[in-house]
Amino acid sequence: SAKDAGRDTHRFVTAEMGTRSRERLDVEASLRHALESGQLFLTYQPQVRIADGTIAGLEALIRWRHPENGAMLPGRFLPVAEESGLILPIGEWVLNEVCRQIREWQGRIGLSVPVAVNISGVQFRDSRLPGQILAALDTHGLKGPELEIEVTESVLIHNLDSTAATLRALKQRGVLVALDDFGTGYSSLSYLHRFPIDTLKIDRSFILNLESDPMARSIPRAVIGLGTALGLSVVAEGVETPGQLALLSEMKCDLAQGYLFGRPLPAAETEPLLAAGVLRPAERQTLPHIGA
Ligand code: C2E
Ligand code: MG
Ligand code: MG
Ligand code: MG
Repeated sequence: SAKDAGRDTHRFVTAEMGTRSRERLDVEASLRHALESGQLFLTYQPQVRIADGTIAGLEALIRWRHPENGAMLPGRFLPVAEESGLILPIGEWVLNEVCRQIREWQGRIGLSVPVAVNISGVQFRDSRLPGQILAALDTHGLKGPELEIEVTESVLIHNLDSTAATLRALKQRGVLVALDDFGTGYSSLSYLHRFPIDTLKIDRSFILNLESDPMARSIPRAVIGLGTALGLSVVAEGVETPGQLALLSEMKCDLAQGYLFGRPLPAAETEPLLAAGVLRPAERQTLPHIGA
């Protein structure tokens, strides 16, 4: 009967939810273990000055060296980290590891460009965040401008009360602030003015169709114009082809980040690129690694 079917559906759904939350708990437990046992590591992707190919900065991107699955991307484990609150200790680890790496590179190769760290909404809402960032800088003997934080527009506006205070504390120390995935959130031009933003990162979705769709050029062009007028750096994310690069160059975009210049690489493989200081765009977009 329909009633039985309804009950069966209900039973099926709850059983499935049980499985899902058990899976989630498994992931959570192994992620906690990963943090404690050193399975998390950072990769670094260069940001390149379009005019001359010099490296203008790096973005740190987390990876999980999973014992069975190999190197796992953040899309597969950050949601669980955020739901469970594990993102807080993980985020603190990332901050300390980035500051430690910056200090090491300063000593070894005279690093002089900032390294950016992604901060999720859960982290940004935590009132301990500014203190953690300042402590990580102090621990590793950094001034402040060596570090940039990347937040999305929605993170800023969903935390309006704390946003101003947090950004002020970081600004006082010279930490740079980038708006990540710009154009995909609740873009309101008022906070470009209201908050101390240094960098706009044009989301990859606006770069994707640049070549095939002339209409798709109007948003990056507008963001570049706006950023330039406000004295901000503008980074195009997800640049994969020479054609995209040429269009961005025509639009007078400062900086590009994407597979065309290099995939995110572990610190040891990033170091020689940094030491050279200049990157050439790859001939083909399919190269797995710069220089490989
Ligand atoms: P995001 O900050 O927007 O980072 C850019 C993403 O685009 C990275 O994915 C990067 O590997 C990828 N990417 C770069 N160039 C290209 C390209 O040319 N083509 C394509 N298709 N992709 C490109 P990834 O490393 O998987 O990171 C995904 C997201 O996870 C990041 O997006 C960021 O929101 C988050 N994330 C990464 N690391 C951390 C972290 O340490 N802490 C926090 N809270 N979030 C992180
Ligand atoms: Mg980012
Ligand atoms: Mg982004
Ligand atoms: Mg993103």
